Amino acid sequence: MTTPPLHLPAGLAAPVLKYLGAYPAPIVAQVAALIDQGRLPQVLQQRYPERHAVQSDTALYAYVSELKAQHLRGADPIHKVAYDSKLKVIQHALGTHTMVSRVQGGKLKAKREIRVASLFREGPPEFLRMIVAHELAHLKEREHNKAFYALCTHIDADYQQHEFDLRLWLVSRELFPASA
Ligand SMILES: [Zn+2]
Repeated sequence: MTTPPLHLPAGLAAPVLKYLGAYPAPIVAQVAALIDQGRLPQVLQQRYPERHAVQSDTALYAYVSELKAQHLRGADPIHKVAYDSKLKVIQHALGTHTMVSRVQGGKLKAKREIRVASLFREGPPEFLRMIVAHELAHLKEREHNKAFYALCTHIDADYQQHEFDLRLWLVSRELFPASA
């Protein structure tokens, strides 16, 4: 993929390319125009006015368990769910799902953990749901393949839109920290 031409100073273009580099150039150009006009935070605030109330690790565990019970009943049980302030957002997509293998009574058992970057504690409910959908889908599919995205969409019908908008939100927080 070639770098889309952005009519923005390098400091403004860098976060756009970091979070949206994989999207088609015309779409990225639209985002660049919103940034140039200083309107990105306002557009996101209008589209996502709510803030969720899932603030503690205990509440997050309950939230994840509920979504799993509704949509992915047969998947492996989850042992731990937590907000993680050390998680680098872009490093592994948007959260992490780790499998810690342990020998228990001679059998290898997989312990599943879901960690969500703590900055999403402050965000709209749509983004938390999207991130958790992503991590839950990984209980069944390791790769980001077609089956994986089908599961994401099963849990969050607007998954693709929410992922795109969440990336916009991350760009907005970097470029307009006062409006975050
Ligand atoms: Zn992933």
